[in-house]
Amino acid sequence: MPDAVHVVALCASGLAGVTTSESVVHHTVNHWRAAPARTYRRLMRISDVVRLKGGDVVTVRSDASVTELLALLSEHRIGAVVVSDDGETVHGIVSERDIVRHLHTDGAALLETPVHQIMTAEVHTCVPEDSLDDLESAMTEKRFRHVPVLSDGKLVAIVSIGDVVKNRIDDLQAERDQLRTYIQS
Ligand code: AMP
Repeated sequence: MPDAVHVVALCASGLAGVTTSESVVHHTVNHWRAAPARTYRRLMRISDVVRLKGGDVVTVRSDASVTELLALLSEHRIGAVVVSDDGETVHGIVSERDIVRHLHTDGAALLETPVHQIMTAEVHTCVPEDSLDDLESAMTEKRFRHVPVLSDGKLVAIVSIGDVVKNRIDDLQAERDQLRTYIQS
């Protein structure tokens, strides 16, 4: 059934509401052969995200002080830093939330504390071949906003929740434009 195929395709695009319009369904039925090749969402991989944003990762040595960490966060306008002594091996991750939590319990003494004492040592990482959808689910479920990307066990990039959201918006806008073109043609 050609109409069913395209109703499903439009639903799958995340714009299911569009299909409730009679004119759209009618148009879809009459022009199903001319439909764009892809109305489904493209499977995005971490490698696609890294290609767009680049592989710069700010790291900090595990023996650096929280004061040094604060300088990095401020200088680079970021929310988390990967803890690594050689720039490749991930020992941990430390985010502004760790600083806030420890500042509350330790007070000003925190500034001289080495980063390894406040970092999260069990880091959730991903590889370039992973799907963005899976990463998004992990970030939502585990409640962190930064995930280092490893290739052959070495740090090559970092993906933040901001990168995920930007990608999602770009994707939705591309789909909307594609559907508009199809509906108006
Ligand atoms: P975030 O939301 O990234 O600012 O981090 C919130 C908390 O999760 C902090 O305690 C971080 O140290 C920790 N965290 C951040 N990213 C990760 C990660 N990829 N794996 C494990 N813990 C993380």
